[in-house]
Amino acid sequence: MIKSKEIGSLIVISGPSGAGKGTVIQEVLKDNPNSWLSVSMTSRKIRPGEKEGVNYYYVSEEEFKQKIEEGYFLEYNNYVGNYYGTPKEFINKKRLEGKDVILEIEINGANNIKKLIDDAIFIFIMPPSWKELKRRLENRKTETKEKIIKRFQTAYREINEVTKYNYVVVNDDLEETVEKVKAIMLAEKCRVDRIEEVYLNSDEEILHEMLIDSKEFVNETPKID
Ligand code: ADP
Ligand code: 5GP
Repeated sequence: MIKSKEIGSLIVISGPSGAGKGTVIQEVLKDNPNSWLSVSMTSRKIRPGEKEGVNYYYVSEEEFKQKIEEGYFLEYNNYVGNYYGTPKEFINKKRLEGKDVILEIEINGANNIKKLIDDAIFIFIMPPSWKELKRRLENRKTETKEKIIKRFQTAYREINEVTKYNYVVVNDDLEETVEKVKAIMLAEKCRVDRIEEVYLNSDEEILHEMLIDSKEFVNETPKID
């Protein structure tokens, strides 16, 4: 009865560093062949445990600037001293294949995406408290004390931008957070503005039986603007 757009969703996930975005996304992607993470390019150093092509494509600052010149990015930004950018091609290709694509990017990048892609969905992941954010950043053991303070200051500014997002999820219990993000992605698939066509087969016997003699029967399909 309804034909929906086959293009995949674009889900933009932001939130303070240490809120748990990466952890949540990995869980959302598990056993979900229809969703893909867009791997960004960065000029920041690889962290222990991270993998080239999985977490990021790691390049020097010069190489990154070269890619900007080449028009390789959909958006890019400098965050706490390092460049981060979203490669253009992957997103378009996957969405056209009907796959959902998740972007994990900071708020300026998300603002730029908003201007460029009008059907993108924006989710903000919040830490449950400042204390817990500090604990998570320290426990992750990936940043120096100085960098943690910088990320904390940035987080303080970022949280004021939450109202620009469509959804906010507080990442307290991980399992619950993952369920909420999956539920948002599922609900978005049912949006009326994704409908391409509504059709009624007026030859269907049941329709005749139920409606043919009543004033309700209209022998045409509803129109979609
Ligand atoms: P981000 O990608 O937002 O910077 P991470 O996914 O790296 O954050 O998570 C930061 C730290 O917090 C990691 O050590 C991760 O294991 C931990 N973490 C993430 N979500 C939760 C949660 N719901 N409860 C407790 N710890 C969490
Ligand atoms: P991290 O160094 O912790 O991996 O990332 C730092 C910040 O950069 C995070 O807020 C992350 O979401 C953001 N980020 C990662 N990739 C991109 C990107 O391609 N573009 C933008 N604008 N931000 C990104």
